[in-house]
Amino acid sequence: MLTLAGLGVALVVAALVLVPWQRPPAPRADQLAALRDLPTGQVEHARQFRSALRPGGWAALGVGLLVALALGLTPLGSRLVELAGRPFGGHWIAQAILGGLAVVLVADLVTLPFAAWRHSVLTRYGLATNGWGGWAVDLLKSYAVSAVIGAVALLGFYTVIRLAPRWWWAFGAAGAATLVVLLSFVLPVLVEPVFNRFSPMEPSPLRSQLMELAERDGVPVRDVLVADASRRTRAVNAYVSGLGPTRRVVVYDNLLREATPAEVTAVVAHELGHARDRDVSVGTLTGALGAAAAVVALYLIGSWPPLLRLAGVDSAAEPRAFPLLLALVTVAGLVFTPVQSLMSRRIEARADAHALALTGDPVAFESMQRRLSAVNLSDPDPPRWEYLYSASHPSTVERIAAARAYARKVGR
Ligand SMILES: [Zn+2]
Repeated sequence: MLTLAGLGVALVVAALVLVPWQRPPAPRADQLAALRDLPTGQVEHARQFRSALRPGGWAALGVGLLVALALGLTPLGSRLVELAGRPFGGHWIAQAILGGLAVVLVADLVTLPFAAWRHSVLTRYGLATNGWGGWAVDLLKSYAVSAVIGAVALLGFYTVIRLAPRWWWAFGAAGAATLVVLLSFVLPVLVEPVFNRFSPMEPSPLRSQLMELAERDGVPVRDVLVADASRRTRAVNAYVSGLGPTRRVVVYDNLLREATPAEVTAVVAHELGHARDRDVSVGTLTGALGAAAAVVALYLIGSWPPLLRLAGVDSAAEPRAFPLLLALVTVAGLVFTPVQSLMSRRIEARADAHALALTGDPVAFESMQRRLSAVNLSDPDPPRWEYLYSASHPSTVERIAAARAYARKVGR
């Protein structure tokens, strides 16, 4: 409990110090003014699209939660783990890896119809370009990637439990934090290429301008990488990922095709803001502390006798108790989503402010926001509850209002 309290305090302190809280959204009146300036047809179309996605999205969350609870808080899950280990004489390694993956697979499969429905909506609205074959291949690839990472994590976790039956929660917490850091390093070089091809941006005046921008910003960027996102979507986007030697700025090929050079510059300036403020490191650090705290919390809550009785197991440390742990993680994930979203929105707003200051071009920034919203069919001013629960970025109208506030401040 002391360790959990210590990790909790460290997490709160890290979030308080590293997240730019002193950056409240632009006044509501300015947001509404920005909304009025957007074409009504475009806003309506985006809202129809979002409404079409919404029922399936929430149903997937609800059904996913119900199944996780059904597997974790009844003996069903522990029986599934036993079943998966049976061909191997119930050996603990088979139970840990095959049983664990079987439980995760069942939880994934029950939400599969919702994922398919989502793809059909994306296709109907012309956002998806990959067809059902491409969709299925992506799905299988993501199952394979999850299975590999999951197998390593499960084997590591239950090995630690066997080696240190009394102190597994401490070693497990350290291991979970290490895994988060490791994944931040290797995801861009090992996992992202499974789904997309990345090539250095072709030499062009724009490329030289972007490299010059990065240099002026004091952010060492070896290259701007272009992802072949057009193979599955029409959406435009960009991101930074990786740490240290694996850090990269990635833009979608769609963005280069659809946006003006000034808009691309605004997007890349936003990404440079993430790099400069070390937002990937901040995410990794809070993620690592959160993962460590989660393991200790799982140990404490998962050892509570009434829960163990419900799950039909003797101890949280046996592989048969994995469905119980997964149920707890699922509930925690849903509970902490709004907190993570709030932190993310504040960090994104800081990257926006950085982009405005670096380019000094609020007009291009605003037209980039309009384009993102138009092409990606995002609701420029989404329903409040949905925004508070899960929006990772400020809304389009917030971002436009912030650009206008900047323009007023510098007198442009
Ligand atoms: Zn961003």
